[in-house]
Amino acid sequence: MQVITDVGYLLASFSFIIGLKLMSSPQKAKKGNRVATIGMGIALITVLIGGISKNINYTSLLILSIAILAGVIVGRKMAFTVKMTAMPQMVSLLNATGGGCAMLLGYIEASQISEYLYSSSLLLLNLGVVTGAIALSGSIVAYLKLGGKIRDLHQGGVHWFSRVLFLCIVLLPLGYFLQIIPWSFYELTLVLIFIGLLYGVLFVVPIGGADMPVVISLLNSITGIATALAGLLYANKAMIAGGIFVGAAGIFLTMLMCKAMNRSLWRVIVGNTGSKTQNIGGETSQEIRETSVSEVVTQLLLSKKIGIVPGYGMAVAQAQHTCAQLQNLLQNKGKTLDYIIHPVAGRMPGHMNVLLAEAKIGYHYLKEMHEVNDEMGSYDMIFVIGANDVVNPAAESNPASPIYGMPIIKSHLSKQVVVFKRSMKPGYSGVSNDLFEYDNCQLLFGDAQVSLQEIVTQLKALN
Ligand code: NDP
Repeated sequence: MQVITDVGYLLASFSFIIGLKLMSSPQKAKKGNRVATIGMGIALITVLIGGISKNINYTSLLILSIAILAGVIVGRKMAFTVKMTAMPQMVSLLNATGGGCAMLLGYIEASQISEYLYSSSLLLLNLGVVTGAIALSGSIVAYLKLGGKIRDLHQGGVHWFSRVLFLCIVLLPLGYFLQIIPWSFYELTLVLIFIGLLYGVLFVVPIGGADMPVVISLLNSITGIATALAGLLYANKAMIAGGIFVGAAGIFLTMLMCKAMNRSLWRVIVGNTGSKTQNIGGETSQEIRETSVSEVVTQLLLSKKIGIVPGYGMAVAQAQHTCAQLQNLLQNKGKTLDYIIHPVAGRMPGHMNVLLAEAKIGYHYLKEMHEVNDEMGSYDMIFVIGANDVVNPAAESNPASPIYGMPIIKSHLSKQVVVFKRSMKPGYSGVSNDLFEYDNCQLLFGDAQVSLQEIVTQLKALN
């Protein structure tokens, strides 16, 4: 039996490695997802076989099987019914469950543990419990913030209090092992769980809107570390391997996102004190030029090179399919069309890539921000569809802006920009957009899908 479980965990780990490798390319990502799913299936079956080999009683085996089945059914249902716009919230929620599991496993072990275990094992247990607790509460707060249920809290006191909590997380286990603190290991674990949960909340609550993607991937990485630590406790190879992959991939993604936003990780975590220029939820009053569908159609006919900058609003409007129709029409008229993608457009890394792939828009039409920024002047027309923060020139020119330093798609340098949006409400970061006041910028108000559909209808009528 031992050989079967060893081979099972090895196969699962291999599937995770291959799946992750395939996921690094958009073309092969679906295949990668399938391979990793098979790996997870193998890991779950191996857990059951491991249970049988250790002669666990029938009741426990039944509970284990029901829990696995329930998890598979609920997870599948969530994945198939989640709206594209709610995907980041789902990622945060799943992350929370991973952290919560690691925390509970550590808690159960702590409640049964012998005080004579090696200090290193106890330390690992403490680390797993604390990281799991931070990932659990931090991801729940991220979920609530992404869903707009709570807003940032920029009180200086929050930062100081969370620093004190962090010190407690480091010093309390030290005090225990030096026998300065008279608690039992179980009591220490309970206190650490409480502090970890509180720290997770205070760690995420003050993070500014524009920095949320970085925090989500950091929390992902913390969950991975917690899982690997829990795997060490149980000597479960698949948990160790899976946890290390998630932890390492999360850290790399965090670093890449920081680079994309031109911010250091330290500044993301401790440097957000908010800004008086923020205008949460309300409409901004700016001098703008409004345009109409027929005016846009005329401009399109006169343009040769067109760029589309998609953003979160395209996902809200589900405008990707109409966008693909417009692309076909324009290409049939001999025009060149590119999609210009910002790494943090939308609400999660790769959000726009997934959205456009859903409408079967070829990857070769997708250009990264840095590929086109230097040649922006060659675009006759840029359509900004449901994007806001990622095209805001204030990120380059206004040091007081919360998004200052974030690289942007320099659509304002093109010959003509049309922004598709419904109102004068700001984007996710809550700041007004200087682009709207540029002479070459016009706003087309309305739901992006409706506006695009009208453009498509008028273009077809001209054929
Ligand atoms: P923004 O949130 O800045 O802007 C979205 C725009 O879409 C708004 O101007 C909104 O205006 C418009 N919009 C919404 N619904 C519709 C609709 N149905 N039709 C037309 N327009 C619509 O999005 P961006 O993609 O530009 O920027 C992403 C922001 O989110 C960045 O600040 C980023 O840091 C942050 N973020 C990114 C994450 C990621 O991992 N990518 C995760 C979390 C946050 P209106 O309401 O007037 O229509």
